[in-house]
Amino acid sequence: MEFATFADRAGTIEAEPADLEVIAHVRDLLADAGSDLEVAARFVQGRVFPAWDSTTLDIGPSACYEAIARAAGTNVSADDVEDRLAEVGEIGDVAASYDFGGQQGLGAFTGGGTGGTGGGSDGNGGDLTVREVYKTLEDLAAAEGSGSQDRKVDLLFGLFNRCSSEEARYLARIVLSEMRIGVGEGTVRDAIADAFDVPKDRVERALQVSNDYGQVARIARDDGLEGLDAMNLEVGRPVQAMLAQAGTVTDALEEWDEAAVEWKYDGARVQLHYDPVDSGESMAEARVFSRNMEEVTDALPEVVEFAEAHLEESAILDGEVVAIDAEGAPLPFQEVLKRFRRKHDVAKAREDVTVRPVFFDCLHADGDDLLAEPLTTRHDRLRSVLVDADADADSVDDGDIEGLSLLWRTDDPDEIEAIDAEALEAGHEGIMLKNPGSTYSPGRRGKHWRKRKPDVETIDCVVTGAEWGEGRRATFLGTFELAVRAGEDLETVGKVATGITDEKLAELTELLEPHIAAEDGQEVELEPEIVFEVGYEEIQSSPTYSSGYALRFPRFVGVRPDKDPADADSLERLERLQSN
Ligand code: AMP
Repeated sequence: MEFATFADRAGTIEAEPADLEVIAHVRDLLADAGSDLEVAARFVQGRVFPAWDSTTLDIGPSACYEAIARAAGTNVSADDVEDRLAEVGEIGDVAASYDFGGQQGLGAFTGGGTGGTGGGSDGNGGDLTVREVYKTLEDLAAAEGSGSQDRKVDLLFGLFNRCSSEEARYLARIVLSEMRIGVGEGTVRDAIADAFDVPKDRVERALQVSNDYGQVARIARDDGLEGLDAMNLEVGRPVQAMLAQAGTVTDALEEWDEAAVEWKYDGARVQLHYDPVDSGESMAEARVFSRNMEEVTDALPEVVEFAEAHLEESAILDGEVVAIDAEGAPLPFQEVLKRFRRKHDVAKAREDVTVRPVFFDCLHADGDDLLAEPLTTRHDRLRSVLVDADADADSVDDGDIEGLSLLWRTDDPDEIEAIDAEALEAGHEGIMLKNPGSTYSPGRRGKHWRKRKPDVETIDCVVTGAEWGEGRRATFLGTFELAVRAGEDLETVGKVATGITDEKLAELTELLEPHIAAEDGQEVELEPEIVFEVGYEEIQSSPTYSSGYALRFPRFVGVRPDKDPADADSLERLERLQSN
């Protein structure tokens, strides 16, 4: 396809306000693209390379202005282009405002052009094809090392020099990833389905496993539905990460029979691809990708070493990389960031901050794609991929399997609270609640994964009682009874037991012990002196406590040393909050 034809179609699409018509124009473009279908399906979205491919053109706006200026003539400078951009506001309009062509120079040849036969705004050019543009951009991306920026500008100049105004408009936008003609991913998906008469959901599935609109379009056209359905995940080609929504324990237990509960690690998402090729010269290969499918293998040698030490079969694992201190305790997320995109001095950075991967999902194992399997099946598979080959798998405790995120299945809110408290105590962010039966939906922020929402409101309660703990907590007061003001009286609303670390319990015991008024076995009555700030998920009417209300999932937030019991919240406020 000639690039002029592509530019013409892009112009039609850009001018079209109606979504359905846009899909129809993209459909026609794909149907007419011939051997350039793959490239056209990406260019129309402003992409040069497939979404899974970390390759970038690595060319900044100023180099692009320079190339435009050179192609525009001897009396135009990059600064002029930038000034015009400031006036006009959009690079496509700027590029289209010059009269290109005829500029002789190295770039005119290295860009594959013939220089003097250049385009010109009046459409007298037009020998540039979509393929040539793509090939030149591929060479441009591949230019590395000293002098590479000059080479990139030369190549781009060669292209602009052969462009008509309209071609230049869309070339500039593609190069700067600013296509903006109203074609999103859904548009291309629907256009592929319409152009080649295949169902949208199957196109969608093929896109999810491949992340390559070009390849999916070509296969839909050449091999139809059968071809699309035969597309699978490939080790080494990243998949979009499934995302989580905020949610509560209440929602999770209402919607699902039981919840899969996991710790929420405070790190950065990673996808590990491991290919144990052992034939010929090639070595086993581990590659690591970020949440945005960017390759981060070189920055995270610990993850590569983990794969080499623990994996035997081919696998795609989804997880989190966490920074840890010398004792293995997690460090804040900012520490991981110091390592994540590091390109130089990785060994030195590694001495300062160590990272460790924890995996919670398995998308592919030993040739099997698992996206359509339920979460629990995928987790079982993850376990078997990670369990030491020499170990007796059944007798190994999940907690002893390195790199495996634990998963509990329960419908008991108290058990979920206990897992949450344990997660916080171990220094993690909290918990994730997942639908045990759900499939893996790449790129979706659906309801099947929920990160437990932090409490929106908190209330200040007077502590009126407590219980001595058991076992290692026998010397600590815990399970604190909470009350709100009701006129001159205090009425109880619940007990907060979880979400408190041992260290904090010791502190609270020291604070409350002097106020013990009476003791009966483990039960302790306290003088109403201390105020706690408490979070909760919901306020329910309940006969369990004297106020007639109960806090659902109360969580200790902190002591309010600045407040007296008289400043604690009242029953009226509780009533108001409940009715909100
Ligand atoms: P957020 O970044 O706040 O939207 O929370 C979702 C992120 O939590 C995911 O993208 C992961 O990077 C991270 N995460 C930590 N632990 C888990 C887990 N067990 N399951 C899923 N995601 C997790």
